[in-house]
Amino acid sequence: MTTPSFNPPVRTLMGPGPSDVHPRILQALARPTIGHLDPVFVDMMEQTKSLLQYAFQTENALTMPVSAPGSAGMETCFVNLVEPGDKVIVCQNGVFGGRMKENVERCGGTAIMVEDEWGKAVDLEKVEAALQSNSDAKVLAFVHAETSTGARSDAKELVELAHRHDCLTIVDSVTSLGGSELKVDEWGIDSIYSGTQKCLSCAPGISPISFSERALDKVRNRSSKVQSWFLDLNLVMGYWGGGQKRAYHHTAPVNGLYGLHEALCILQNEGLENSWARHRKMHNALKAGLEAMGLTFIVDEAHRLPQLNAVSIPEGVDDAAVRGRLLNEYNLEIGAGLGALAGKVWRIGLMGHSARAENILLCVSSLEAVLSEMEAPINRGVALAAVQKSLSAES
Ligand SMILES: *Cc1c(COP(=O)(O)O)cnc(C)c1O
Repeated sequence: MTTPSFNPPVRTLMGPGPSDVHPRILQALARPTIGHLDPVFVDMMEQTKSLLQYAFQTENALTMPVSAPGSAGMETCFVNLVEPGDKVIVCQNGVFGGRMKENVERCGGTAIMVEDEWGKAVDLEKVEAALQSNSDAKVLAFVHAETSTGARSDAKELVELAHRHDCLTIVDSVTSLGGSELKVDEWGIDSIYSGTQKCLSCAPGISPISFSERALDKVRNRSSKVQSWFLDLNLVMGYWGGGQKRAYHHTAPVNGLYGLHEALCILQNEGLENSWARHRKMHNALKAGLEAMGLTFIVDEAHRLPQLNAVSIPEGVDDAAVRGRLLNEYNLEIGAGLGALAGKVWRIGLMGHSARAENILLCVSSLEAVLSEMEAPINRGVALAAVQKSLSAES
């Protein structure tokens, strides 16, 4: 018996990532594979680096895609910037700050945790107090856009605080890049990582990173070797940074990088500010529909991310049953709550190509249909009108 080819269903992806991949990107992924040292490919890599500089709003020479998912971008920052014995202040207001702590400890460092409630932004005063009582700390690490809760922290202020206390910064922008305001140079961010499958709308598996000269000085002058051979930037730079004289380090994910290049062309074509504004506009429309139905957001308006909408599950509603029906009957994926929020919230993503009117109409109408059939306590028959009103008010 032979195994048939795998043919996935066509879904609408409105969870915490991956987001809907733009058809132009799917086509780019299917283009002919060429050698990763082929001059034509090397030219594309160079273009990808400048397109990433645009997306990150930076002139950092070391701006490149790591050949592995967002989690590897996170590890790249930690393994290169944290040496055994280093103290790192880690902000945690959701799942991903907890992973940063793991990273620090696995690098032989000490993590000083600054914890905030899930759904809240990182508290600047607590961070300042931690920096003051740990004057020997070397790095401040935080998540700009916490995908587990939908909260945005003030990256600009956090970086300023860190610099006042002589700390470098590691910033997680996996969910913010392309979806909401992010200015690496203007805000003085020292090292940053992101992912391809959130607001860049690309297939998962690649992680854009950027390091400032100040951060690279630290990498070049380490007293110990980076314990990860694959992620050691001293070696990776010879591959990605070598212009035409590229030293073989590993084989880049050739087709995956065609996809990233296409995603960045789409972003450049739309314009970064326009992309941020589109995410905001689509968030307002989704919010209008969900609130008309009677659903409530867990993050206060001032710190709410447009691209990740965490809403409370109404009393008595079976979380998994709703998500299952949306998937099976409407081909719509929304996200479950993670960690402390498991079973309490749904996470509705409006990331990249998923942030468009037709997706919002599908999400609001199918959610209303499923909740109505389950006799959940919601207002019926008003949500779609609210979405339409919001969309036309802002067009
Ligand atoms: C998705 C995500 C990651 C991890 O990215 P992967 O590509 O899944 O490895 C890290 N941080 C945040 C904030 C994320 O949303």
